[in-house]
Amino acid sequence: MANKEIPYKIYLEESEMPKEWYNVRADMKKKPAPLLDPATGKPMTVEALSRVFCEELSRQELNDTDAWIPIPGEIRDFYKMYRPAPLVRAYCLEKKLGTPAHIYYKFEGNNTSGSHKLNSAIAQAYYAKQQGLTGVTTETGAGQWGTALSMACSYFGLDCKVFMVKSSYELKPFRREVMRTYGADVTPSPSTTTAIGRQILAEFPGTSGSLGCAISEAVEAATSREGYRYVLGSVLSQVMLHQSVIGLETNAALDKYGIKADIIIGCAGGGSNLGGLIAPFVGEQLRGEAKYQFIAVEPKSCPSLTRGKYVYDYCDTGRICPLAKMYTLGSGFIPAATHAGGLRYHGMSSTLSELYDQGIMEARSVKQTEVFEAAEYFARIEGILPAPESAHAIRVAMDEAIKCRETGEEKTIVFGLTGTGYFDMMSYEKFHDGKMTDYTPTDEEIEAGLSKIPNIG
Ligand SMILES: *Cc1c(COP(=O)(O)O)cnc(C)c1O
Repeated sequence: MANKEIPYKIYLEESEMPKEWYNVRADMKKKPAPLLDPATGKPMTVEALSRVFCEELSRQELNDTDAWIPIPGEIRDFYKMYRPAPLVRAYCLEKKLGTPAHIYYKFEGNNTSGSHKLNSAIAQAYYAKQQGLTGVTTETGAGQWGTALSMACSYFGLDCKVFMVKSSYELKPFRREVMRTYGADVTPSPSTTTAIGRQILAEFPGTSGSLGCAISEAVEAATSREGYRYVLGSVLSQVMLHQSVIGLETNAALDKYGIKADIIIGCAGGGSNLGGLIAPFVGEQLRGEAKYQFIAVEPKSCPSLTRGKYVYDYCDTGRICPLAKMYTLGSGFIPAATHAGGLRYHGMSSTLSELYDQGIMEARSVKQTEVFEAAEYFARIEGILPAPESAHAIRVAMDEAIKCRETGEEKTIVFGLTGTGYFDMMSYEKFHDGKMTDYTPTDEEIEAGLSKIPNIG
């Protein structure tokens, strides 16, 4: 097998698509810390979680014992419309860089939402429908998650209410209209439609909003309505579970040609794509079957892993969601307004946080001008116009490939290309016009965010 010529794109057959998601927590000896109930400080139960989230999703959230969870047939049928996603050998990029490294990327941008988020959106909408709910609420920043969820809800005939961070609502009208095309109701956040929104507006008049604040509004909108639940597109363990389809397909594609990855790289916002990509490989490593280098890439302007603290924190500004132990900058942290590249959440998935803390995964932070340089370089050679988020992974994959050029090592580098950047052209414009700046928060700014973290365990 090893000598078989490797094509530009490794496709799997439909029949080779995963039939089960992989839950890496089952193979972790030291598990991620449990979610805590903000009211009692006790670990969350399925019953308590189910007041906010769908029941089956609450069970998945707390399940750290079953390694494999069957993917229901209706979800697999939907997956088949845009999966399996290709694993691409970046021959042209390798040549241009003059590197002996072999570079592969798993491309998740091949659906209308333009990112991997649809993998979890369809699962969450399915379980909401199964439960007999009327609809779901959520928040969206740049809009990829809201778009993915709108698509999933329209497929299953569910009502979808999206709270969109106000700055994005105004700057990204096209995203907003895609969501409305799929039937979603989109409200700029903070809004006057919720108590927490009104409170935030009173405290910070004219604010352009934040993800944490939009989450609070979406949770309130769900819990104050009959037949609604809240769904979240990242950070949670259930989301990472659904995203394991990325890693399972990647592993199957590599296996087909007898390829062994050395370095696996992904961008990290809340951690779901990276977590999903590396999960099966981390599992192999935890079981002692293989060894890999895992690298999380985050923006210097929102450095939760590289400069945050590993403590219990609120997942939202309104402090109504469960508390999670994670690397965090504090739930009040809002990245500088000049930050254009997404990945702006203050915390990180509890599973990835634990893997990072155990030294199984590394983290790097990169400047946004370096990220856009890599994005443009990649677009001109490999053709795909990457999302700025994805370009964080491209940056570090290129850096690693350049290192190989210097050392002559023939490493195999795999990275996650999470999506396309067609709706980010205003950020690209800033970059092209030389108007993009880099911002690294000062120690004082980081400290100010950290000082507001609750003092728990
Ligand atoms: C949302 C998003 C991300 C970051 O989210 P994670 O949960 O960290 O994966 C990365 N890339 C794209 C294209 C996204 O839409």
